[in-house]
Amino acid sequence: MNIQTRSAYDLLIAHLKDVDLLCATKKLLTWDQETLLPPGGASASYRARQVAQLARMIHERMTDRRVDEWLSACEADGLLTADADGAAAVNVRETRRQYDRATKLPSRLVEEIARVSSESTHLWAEARKTNDYARFAPTLQRVIDLCREKAACYGHAPGGEPWDALADGYEPGCTAAQVEQLFTPLRPRLVRLVDQLLGSRHQPDDALHRLKLPKEQQRAFVTDVVCAIGFDFERGRLDESAHPFCLPLHRDDVRMTTRFADDMVHDALGSTMHEAGHGMYNQNVPGGEHVGTPMGDAVRLSIHESQSRMWENHVGRSLGFWRWCHPMLSRWFGSATAGLSLEQVYRSINLVQRQFIRVEADEATYNLHIMMRFDLERAMMRGDLTAGDLPGAWNEAFSHYLGLRVPDDRRGVMQDIHWAQAMIGYFPTYTLGNILAAQLYEAASRQLGDLEAQFAAGRFEGLRHWLIENVHSHGMRYRSAELCRVVTGEPPSVEPLMRHLEGKLKPIYGL
Ligand code: ZN
Repeated sequence: MNIQTRSAYDLLIAHLKDVDLLCATKKLLTWDQETLLPPGGASASYRARQVAQLARMIHERMTDRRVDEWLSACEADGLLTADADGAAAVNVRETRRQYDRATKLPSRLVEEIARVSSESTHLWAEARKTNDYARFAPTLQRVIDLCREKAACYGHAPGGEPWDALADGYEPGCTAAQVEQLFTPLRPRLVRLVDQLLGSRHQPDDALHRLKLPKEQQRAFVTDVVCAIGFDFERGRLDESAHPFCLPLHRDDVRMTTRFADDMVHDALGSTMHEAGHGMYNQNVPGGEHVGTPMGDAVRLSIHESQSRMWENHVGRSLGFWRWCHPMLSRWFGSATAGLSLEQVYRSINLVQRQFIRVEADEATYNLHIMMRFDLERAMMRGDLTAGDLPGAWNEAFSHYLGLRVPDDRRGVMQDIHWAQAMIGYFPTYTLGNILAAQLYEAASRQLGDLEAQFAAGRFEGLRHWLIENVHSHGMRYRSAELCRVVTGEPPSVEPLMRHLEGKLKPIYGL
């Protein structure tokens, strides 16, 4: 490579690292808002202005004309990007992608979406409290219209559809057709499995769901667990928020949150292990010179979600894990959990139930909640479904997928924040994450032997190191489907997920 390219590349990287400082600062303000910000006065609106200011500065810097010039110089020099999997090629490829997406949107539209989605999120929260969808509908329609406008600016490949343009922001290259290819065969198999399980005479009891345990003890318990599985508290924190999340400010400063309620220890454990899965990924992406560049960042959402789901479900709901964890219950909760056998806890943590709320769904029904949202999002983006028609379409889809009549919009179309926040195209990444989690876990088991025996002995480092080596250390080198192929030798497939669900749940239900 020639000297001009070298300096263009160096200037590009220095610029990216500068932008990353702003991004990390914006995340810190968001983390603070969800955990510590005083609730009174004008604190929230002042914070919203601080965050909006940073968002504007980040967008300005990411769409700086010089970024295009530096990228063009790098792209013109074949030597710099000769190794397509090397850090320079990855950084140039991913920055080009971000730049092109960012500059396709007029700033008027970016601002309008930010303003309307902030307004609609607020209205959604209010309307949900009083179950008043009619109050929320006009703003939601505005969000849908703006998302369609955004999709039109991005455009989509011939044969594709508007939904693809939005999904691409969460999962590069993801199209509705690809998602459909996985979802279509998965749906009837999940419906059949749920029917079989719930029709069995051997129903697990809900022992764990009936416990009432003090929050402080729950906090000590879940902290102990995620410390044992490998979340590094020297380089991260665990705090509380209404909705659990994980934000990496830097690989050495990973902020995750969880939530506690006296009668929800299973939820606190699942949520914390889930976020720790995201957190351990964030703590183990490439460091040093790669910090603040795509090579030092995580692959987009489905791979991220595969890490959280693996620790939450494949580890945290396994019998091996509970052989190790069951004695910890009496250590932290004393006599309150003394009557619970290992068998009871294991069975009740895997309880399958048809119910209305996605975030409370079990492993078997969860993906059905996602599939119906995917159908509705596509229709909204095609212009076939308006906000006014959405509750009816929701209820019909829900009874079709989950066999239940939705009693009110609070437990129906208004339960999630995503659409209010203009996050259309996001939901399928959750199920893609489940699919990839199962596939990666099978590959890890083939190489590492009996993982559950290791968990039973309190040993989680085998799986953790395998994930660091095979997933985390690649940064953004591969896209999700490609990474899956590199690590498992196969494209994404629903077979491992079905094997996992049937292999675990059928015996629990005596089938
Ligand atoms: Zn997650």
